Parts: sequence; C-alpha cells; structure tokens
Amino acid sequence: MLRWIDVLKFAAYGNPNPDRKVQKSDEEWETILTPEQFRVTRQHGTERPFSSQMCELFEPGKYECVGCGTVLFDSDEKFDSGTGWPSFTQPAQENAIAYRKDDSLGMSRMETLCNTCGSHLGHVFPDGPEPSQLRYCINAVALKKVASNEAKATFGGGCFWCTEAVFQRIKGVQQVRSGYSGGHVVNPTYREVCSGRTDHAEVIEVTYDPELVSYEDILRVHLGTHDPTTLNRQGGDRGTQYRSIILYRNEDEKQSALNLIKEYENALGKVVVTELKPFEVFYPAESEHQNYFNGNADRNPYCSAVIEPKLAKFRQAFPEFLNSPADTALIG
Ligand SMILES: [Zn+2]
Repeated sequence: MLRWIDVLKFAAYGNPNPDRKVQKSDEEWETILTPEQFRVTRQHGTERPFSSQMCELFEPGKYECVGCGTVLFDSDEKFDSGTGWPSFTQPAQENAIAYRKDDSLGMSRMETLCNTCGSHLGHVFPDGPEPSQLRYCINAVALKKVASNEAKATFGGGCFWCTEAVFQRIKGVQQVRSGYSGGHVVNPTYREVCSGRTDHAEVIEVTYDPELVSYEDILRVHLGTHDPTTLNRQGGDRGTQYRSIILYRNEDEKQSALNLIKEYENALGKVVVTELKPFEVFYPAESEHQNYFNGNADRNPYCSAVIEPKLAKFRQAFPEFLNSPADTALIG
C-alpha cells in the first residue's frame, strides 16, 4: 500500500518503471480523444466539479486511462470525498501512476499522471481515509470505467477476416473487432495498410471475460490457428500487414506470450517469428471489414476456400473453447 511518504519519494527520486510506455504526438492524441479529454489529459486541464456521474458510481469494476487503457484504479478503492471529482485511496498498481510536484496557480500540489502515457489525471492529497490516508482526486474524463469481467487482447495472425471468425466462436469472448495496430500511420485505411507502407498489421481486438477464458488460452488458440513460423506471410497472403504479432498490455501478458512462444517452438521444432510488442493503439477497420465471414461466407469464395478450412481446423484442435453447440456439432 502506498502512503504519502512513498508519493513524496517517487516525486523526488523518480517514478517506478511502467509495464509499457506509450508515446504519441498531439495529432495522434486528437484522433483518439474527445476535445474535453484532450484538454484535460494532454493540456493539464481540470473539469468542472460535479460534472460527471462517475462521482456517484460505486459498482464493481476497474478504471482505465482513457488514453492508453492501463488499469489505474479499482472500484474497491473508490470513496465519496464530496469534492465533485472521482476519488480513490490507492492506485491499482504501484507503477500505474506517476507523480510530479505542481506549483502552478500559487499552490503546492502533487500532480498525478498516467505512468504509461503521461496523461494528466488530477492530484493526490494526504487527507484521504485510513489506512493509506491518500486521496487521489481524478478528472472523470481521464478515466474509462470497465466491468471487472471485461478485458482486452490485441493480436494479429494474417488476414483479419480469418482471425475474427475464429475468435467469435470462443467461449468467454464478448466482442471481436478487426483493425490495425503496430505501425506508425494515424487512423489508416485498409488500402494504406495493404500497401505495406504504414507498418501496421491486420489485427483483432478481442474483448473477453477473464473468468471464462484466460489471456493465456486466447494466445494458445491464436498461435494454434495460424502459422507463427512464416515471416510476413500466411498461406497465400503475403506482406508485412499479414505478420504474426502479439501486442501485450502489461508485464504478465508479455511473460505469458514468451512462455507460449517457447512452448510452440518446442512442439513445432521451428522458430516462431511472432512479433512481441507493447500495445499502443488500435484503429478499428472500416465497417465493411467487421464481422466479415458471418456476413460474406456465401458471397466471397475466399471464405469457403480459406476461412472455412481454418475454422474446421480450429474446431478440431480446440473443442474445449467452442462457444455454441452449433460449432461443437460441426466437429468430426
Ligand atoms: Zn495512459
């Protein structure tokens, strides 16, 4: 548990290292944040007190950084301070928040920032409830509330029409979105990504319930349903946008990925070329690429030639992860 003395030490001698670092230009931030989120988190603004219903929200869940998705606070540490800003007594992790002395506006305060992406969050004061006596006074617009049974994973294994179709059929998966990540162009189009000049990979963002399916099992299915040993290529699809990639959100995810890659290398007797990279941003693909297989299975021959055999292989290899009885019935 952190106390005021720890906060003072972090501010004076340096903050703990975050699990990953996210850096973006203002132009990039403006594409993913609303004007008010940008003003508060990137320009050190303050929202009006009592301007958000988040103050009165005490349902279980986690509070993520609106900029980078890092979990900053847990509902267990939230309390009603009466100040008009969401208040917490502890961060979710010691290294989630960075601290900086702030002498602006003629006051001596301790600023709190997201340690991953540098977003301004608010301030912390030594007048909170026991046992920590800390009061993190946070702008609601800097936070995103997520249910405790909701986590996200981002990875790519070739054409996202294929990988999306596989993960839509897994127990515990709530949503799958196709998109782009891992490159440098802001908000790219499908055409730009296909040119190979954006460095982005076709990826999927999987929202899942960690109580029903673990991150490790999701990666297990990922590595088991594409070929992680062919560089920039899946079957007939060639190009860096089809590379095998895992974008981890924290140190635990990175370790899980490293362990599984080793496991697959031993099983396959080949080097796994999957790129392992800290997650920075996910750009959703155009709407015609979402839910592609389900909507186009009988229209595009690629679906029957490539995606259907892939799904059949998946059903055979991972029957324990299948979502619906219809999919289970297709085995054998
Ligand atoms: Zn952040």
